Amino acid sequence: MRILILSDIHANFTALEAALTKSAGRWDTAVCLGDIVGYGPDPAEVSEKIRSLVQACIRGNHDKAVTGIMSTEDFNPVAKAAVDWTRSQLSPDLLQWLAALPQGPLETKGIMLVHGAFQDEDEYVFTPAQALEGLLDSTVAVTFFGHTHHQGGFAYRDSNLEVLQIRPRPKELFAPLRIEPEKRYMLNPGSIGQPRDADPRASFAIADLANHTVEFWRVPYEIGAVQSRMRKAGLPEPLVQRLEFGR
Ligand code: ZN
Repeated sequence: MRILILSDIHANFTALEAALTKSAGRWDTAVCLGDIVGYGPDPAEVSEKIRSLVQACIRGNHDKAVTGIMSTEDFNPVAKAAVDWTRSQLSPDLLQWLAALPQGPLETKGIMLVHGAFQDEDEYVFTPAQALEGLLDSTVAVTFFGHTHHQGGFAYRDSNLEVLQIRPRPKELFAPLRIEPEKRYMLNPGSIGQPRDADPRASFAIADLANHTVEFWRVPYEIGAVQSRMRKAGLPEPLVQRLEFGR
């Protein structure tokens, strides 16, 4: 079975559509690691689409903030403004669906889903030390996480921790990673709607564990169209601009 792994879509429908179009026919089931909304101009469209598309989905910190599960006290003013606008765009039905999303870790189809760190959904995993807990504690060998918006991950075997730098080149759609049976993995598909690892293309992964492969994908999309919808909605300018730099 080939599993499409989406994360940090952040209300960017154009990026989501581009990812789904390019990967059409290449996966059997889809899962989502949270942050469906927040920052982007299309919270309702993206929520509807994810609700009908995915077989399993956990919540992210933005989904919690928009639905009031988590306070926005710790958010910077730019993120907070986007949260308030996002809430105003969602029907009670969609808000209820977002509020009911389960907390990770969630095991499904032989993989583990978490939004941030393994034991704390709001914690960022940037370094090998931060990944170690998930590598050791997960009940399955391959765990997927999001939250940092950086594609890549970590592998562990016999006390050796390895940083995985897997980046599709500018003209490539994906780069494959070979999954070795003795290793444990924490893998980040990257962000669909707001990449922050210096490549502005929409980022996701396709896992095919029966064939010992995870593909890390990057798909270009029409960033300008999303930026003009954000400006029309009055979303903060720093959020508009960062899309074209992938930062
Ligand atoms: Zn996010």
